[in-house]
Parts: sequence; C-alpha cells; structure tokens
Amino acid sequence: MHSALKRVVLQSIFSLKGNFAEGLKPTVREFDGVEITPFRGGAKGSATISADFEIAWAFRGRSVEERNLRAVRCRKNVPYLVRILEETSIPITWATVGHLFLESCERGVYGLAHADMPRPPKNERWEGDWYQHDPCTNVEKHPDWYAPDLIQGILASRTQHEIGSHSFSHIDFSADTSSRELVRRELKQCIQVMAPLGLPLRSLVYPFNNMGHHHLDIIADLGLTAVRHRDPRIRLSYPERSPDGVYKLWESMNMRRAGLYDYVEKAKIFLQQALRQKAAYHLWFHPSDPTEIFENEFRRIIQYMAQLRDQGHLWVTTMGELAAYCEARQKFNLDVHWDSGSLRIRFESNYDLGRYGNTDVTLRIPLSRQPKKCRIRSAHAEQIIDGKPEARDPSGGRFFVFNVPVTAREMEVVL
Ligand SMILES: [Zn+2]
Ligand SMILES: [Zn+2]
Repeated sequence: MHSALKRVVLQSIFSLKGNFAEGLKPTVREFDGVEITPFRGGAKGSATISADFEIAWAFRGRSVEERNLRAVRCRKNVPYLVRILEETSIPITWATVGHLFLESCERGVYGLAHADMPRPPKNERWEGDWYQHDPCTNVEKHPDWYAPDLIQGILASRTQHEIGSHSFSHIDFSADTSSRELVRRELKQCIQVMAPLGLPLRSLVYPFNNMGHHHLDIIADLGLTAVRHRDPRIRLSYPERSPDGVYKLWESMNMRRAGLYDYVEKAKIFLQQALRQKAAYHLWFHPSDPTEIFENEFRRIIQYMAQLRDQGHLWVTTMGELAAYCEARQKFNLDVHWDSGSLRIRFESNYDLGRYGNTDVTLRIPLSRQPKKCRIRSAHAEQIIDGKPEARDPSGGRFFVFNVPVTAREMEVVL
C-alpha cells in the first residue's frame, strides 16, 4: 500500500478506536488582544517523553532470568539513549527509582535492608520482606540495584534532562498497597538522595501505572508539580491542574514494536493530531526494552519530533517544564496599554518560582510590522528581547511571539 494511503487508513483506525477523543482544552488567556499562548514559543502543541528508569527494581515479582535480561539491557540502553537524545537535542524526564542514586547500602538491624523505611501494607507480588531482593552491597558488585554512574551520564549530557521520581523502591500507589506515611517517606527519601546533585524533584511517574491521585495532597506538599496520568479514554489533552497545583499529564502512547503496521507512523499521526487539538502528547518507555526498538522506532520518532520542533510547530520539553509553563500561564495577568508608538504591558502574577522553577510566558501580539525594540524590566534588571514572527499564521494577520521571563514586571514594545 502507498505510504500516504497507509497513513490515512491508520488514522481512521485510531480515530474509530476513540484515540482522538477530546481531552481538556487550554483556557483562553487573552488581555486586550495580547494572548498568552497555550505552549511556549507559540507552538501548537507539546511533546514530553518519560522513561521509567528502574533497572531490576520493577521486576522483583518476575523470574530471575527476566530480571537479569532487563537489567543488562537497561545498562546498555541508557548511554545509547542519552547519545541519540543529544543528537536531536530532545530532553526527557527520567522517572528514576530513588534507590538507583545510592553507591551502596548496608543491612540494618535484624538483617533487614532499609530497616528505617516503612513497608507497603500489602504486597501480592512476592512473599517476604519488601526489600528482600536488595543485595545490600554496592554498584560494583550489583550494578542491577544501584546506578549513580548512569545518572551521572544523563546529567553530563549537553541536553538538559529532567530527573523525576518513580518512588524510592518502586511501590504501588494503589489505595490498598500504599499508605500516606509510605508515600511521604518514599518521596522524601528521593528528595534527599537527589539534593546533593542539586536536583529538585518536580515530576513523578507512578510505578505499575497505578494512579495514586488520592495522594496528590502529599505529593504537592513535598513540592512536586507534575504526574503522569493514564486514562484509557483520553490520549491527547491539555494538562490539568489539581487543586493542589500538581499537573496531570495524559500519556498518549508507550514504546513498542507493532505487529501489523509501522509504530513510527502511529506516533506521527498522534503528534499531528496533538497539533490540531492544541494538546500535550506524551510518550513513555522502559529503558530495559529491547535495544532494537530504540535503534529503530524510538530514534525515528524523536527525529520526527525534532523536525516538527524546528519548524516551530511543536514544543518538545520535560514534564516539569511543561507544568511550569502551564502554571505561569495561569498565574499571569496582563495590564495592557496600547498607544500609537508603543505597547506597555504590566505583569501581575503570583507564580511560585521556587516550587515550579524558572520559565517564560509566551505572548502573541498582533503587530503590523517587526517592532523596533522590546524592553523587559524585572525587579532589579532590564533586558532587551526579540520578538519572532509567528511560525505559521492561519488567521492571515501578523502576529509576533515574545518569550518573557517569569521574573518580568513590565514590558515595553517600541513600534
Ligand atoms: Zn538498598
Ligand atoms: Zn516502573
């Protein structure tokens, strides 16, 4: 079948399956003709990617053979992934099991591993202690259970990845297998092992994809801002803010090899659909999956994302950065004054910079020509920024987009 026809057929199949059911739409944020765009840079949609990075921790309930295979592949794949993501300048969120930050650990009282950590109230995956598989040695002896070297490799990349959490010991956040105390201690432990590396914890992926939104108040209390959300009915949505200020990011697809069609085609169709729906696309994977999937499908998908990004259509970012942008967009109000020779905008915001981190808000401003100058004033500094003509302007009018730092108090555009 011709490739264009193939794509049309596939598109119809996904559509009939309900994969493009409308999720949330971005709210309109417009002030006297000046719009804060749904995505940074005025992009039509965003793409985020998360890796459930766990080596052996996720596979404790499986056979020793599978666990070993997964661990060997994960150690081989992570450096390869870092390299191809750097080639395309695509940052991802590494949802890392907190124990992997340790160089070593030791058996405590009564021979228990991590005796000071709470145990899940229920575990049907194996008999015995929650930490019984932990070898309590070090990364040289048991590289399946510790990975500070791989984490350093991710941090050394020129592409700035986000390190998120996948809990400390890969707990199940379901109501009957978790408790408030367990969730709090697991996440606190992750924050503690990340702090020496200067890494704030903002994003969480629930292990086993069992949603733990009933713990969102604790997750928010510890400063996190983004969680991955699974909803079989919705694949593409704008992120949703919980009352506690944590953004739910809908997963769109995982990584695999499809039997009957080219999986890369599916990703392309979903990405195009995300642009049409002003939605956030999210792809996730296990770095312990077969290497061929990364060498072929995954590599071609990130190349396609980079292409859409370079054309100005797609914002490719991390979970934490996406949440920060959505929050800033919600918390900024503009006081706009137009006159013949200039445009002045005063920013009023209660954006929590410490919690969400530094970001921009992108303004889309109707202007008949390239402005002469744009000056931004913050509390203690002044800077000049450039506006860019909008990448693709369907309305026929002329719009310029400006990325304004969240620290800005005032902006002056000289026409
Ligand atoms: Zn340990
Ligand atoms: Zn996992």
